[in-house]
Amino acid sequence: MCGIVGAVAQRDVVDILVEGLRRLEYRGYDSAGVAVVNNGELKRLRRLGKVKELADAVDASPTPGGTGIAHTRWATHGEPSERNAHPHVSNDQLAVVHNGIIENHTALKKELEAAGYRFDSQTDTEVIAHLVHKIRQESDDLLSAVQQAVKKLDGAYGTVIMDTNDSDRLVVARSGSPLVIGLGIGENFIASDQLALLPVTRRFVFLEEGDVAEITRTSVRVFDKDGNPVEREEHESTISYDAGDKGQYRHFMLKEIHEQPHAVTNTLEGRLGKDSVLDETFGNGAAELLKKVKHVQIVACGTSYHSAMVARYWMESLANVSCNVEIASEFRYRKSVVQPNSLLVTISQSGETADTLAALRLAKDLGYLGSLTICNVAGSSLVRESDLAFMTRAGAEIGVASTKAFTTQLVGLAMLVLSLGKHNGLSAEQQADMVQALKSLPAKLEESLSLAERIEELAEEFADKHHSLFLGRGDQYPIAMEGALKLKEISYIHAEAYAAGELKHGPLALIDAQMPIIVVAPNNELLEKLKSNVEEVRARGGILYVFADVEANFESDENMRVIDVPHCHPWLAPILYTLPLQLLSYYVAIIKGTDVDQPRNLAKSVTVE
Ligand code: GLU
Repeated sequence: MCGIVGAVAQRDVVDILVEGLRRLEYRGYDSAGVAVVNNGELKRLRRLGKVKELADAVDASPTPGGTGIAHTRWATHGEPSERNAHPHVSNDQLAVVHNGIIENHTALKKELEAAGYRFDSQTDTEVIAHLVHKIRQESDDLLSAVQQAVKKLDGAYGTVIMDTNDSDRLVVARSGSPLVIGLGIGENFIASDQLALLPVTRRFVFLEEGDVAEITRTSVRVFDKDGNPVEREEHESTISYDAGDKGQYRHFMLKEIHEQPHAVTNTLEGRLGKDSVLDETFGNGAAELLKKVKHVQIVACGTSYHSAMVARYWMESLANVSCNVEIASEFRYRKSVVQPNSLLVTISQSGETADTLAALRLAKDLGYLGSLTICNVAGSSLVRESDLAFMTRAGAEIGVASTKAFTTQLVGLAMLVLSLGKHNGLSAEQQADMVQALKSLPAKLEESLSLAERIEELAEEFADKHHSLFLGRGDQYPIAMEGALKLKEISYIHAEAYAAGELKHGPLALIDAQMPIIVVAPNNELLEKLKSNVEEVRARGGILYVFADVEANFESDENMRVIDVPHCHPWLAPILYTLPLQLLSYYVAIIKGTDVDQPRNLAKSVTVE
């Protein structure tokens, strides 16, 4: 979580730092701060709340500086407050920003207090500042002090350290939390995400696990975890993104919902042959590896976990490959049995999700055939550390509630199902039919967006409700889960999803006129079963909102609102039905007046456990 930006330049860097934070605000937004070296003195400004508060404070009392660091926080240790906001400082000399959690902070704090250090905040981060300061007393080299200090840290960190006694450089360290160096001309930068630096450079160097680097205006030196100097490859970024540009849309989330037809088109581009998926789609060596796969283990969190659950239905019914799906934070802490010829698949928008990354690393020694990641960020840790990668081409997703990342993940998984199916009995006709279905998907998604007006009207009825139930069957059950998650995330209405057949085993007791029931009902082989579940709810006075295939013959009445969703290939219905549910949660949130793009207590790119 959290956003980090740093710069070493000849010019004043404060505006660059604040603009960088604004672009990273989706990663955390409970407080923000900046520190620069100004005439040899450390100047720091911190504010509770969003980056705008900090930007106003900077405007009100400008403190220019050529070397600086900045941070937008997602609190893990200590409440959101100005006192806990980063940068944290030691002895007016050292300033530190940090992304992650220092797990042994209590023990280190005791040691440092015994050595005379006074702590001003409740954060785990502050130990880094005092620890480096302490070591620095005996070392005249900031780089070496940081190298020694990180050896004492347990946990996860991306951290940047600035020292007024050596203000021409920043020293940065990465372990478990991403950091990327931006290369300029006569100036260099650091950030937790390249998005922050796009206004100043397109040339990036991604740090690897355990790296410590020293950045000056004219040089970048990187050292690996053993302290050996290493060369890390330079990448040219192709991301085109203007953080300030929501276009005609009121929120990034709405923009991103509407971008889905285009994002899916991009994700499909160049990857489909006439009647099959091209092998190169999953990277070098994919054809050889996928041929051998007989079992798939998918590991993911949150929305990505829901896409994995859809894939399980597809994988077993179409590709004839057995498939397990597990939440990463569970997978990584239990002993699991690896099936023969298993492929490990991880799914993450950012490619930096801490639990998913840990699961991948753990799985390296467990005997999988190989690993594949489905990810939206090139150069991210999951992409670099997996054998194969499928890049979703959703573009930058800024709304904290994931939309286009989810649907493009489903497209990636659909292609994986086709590729595995090819070797496991999926007929040539079925493959050709499925490829056609994929090709026609963007137009279907476009059509479904025209439901926005009707959904906006219906959303009025939700605004005063406190609970809701989402129902689906088969591969629509995970879509019901995703719909419920979206509603929770941005409207704060309690929402639960059930496989419709489970209704009578408990949740039916909750049904009354105050509990809206949302049903996803495509026209598939489970339709008649689902209709019976709908009747069970009606008989108990529940108000139903049924998203149904135009050909499914549901009729609206006093207790049932039917929303006609365009007819599509049943295989891809989970992707199509996601959009109306996203729109529903968006409009409910608008009516409730919540902060749609930055919902309370959440952050994007969950880089802590
Ligand atoms: N653990 C640190 C804190 O609570 C850093 C949190 C973050 O990544 O924003 O301050």
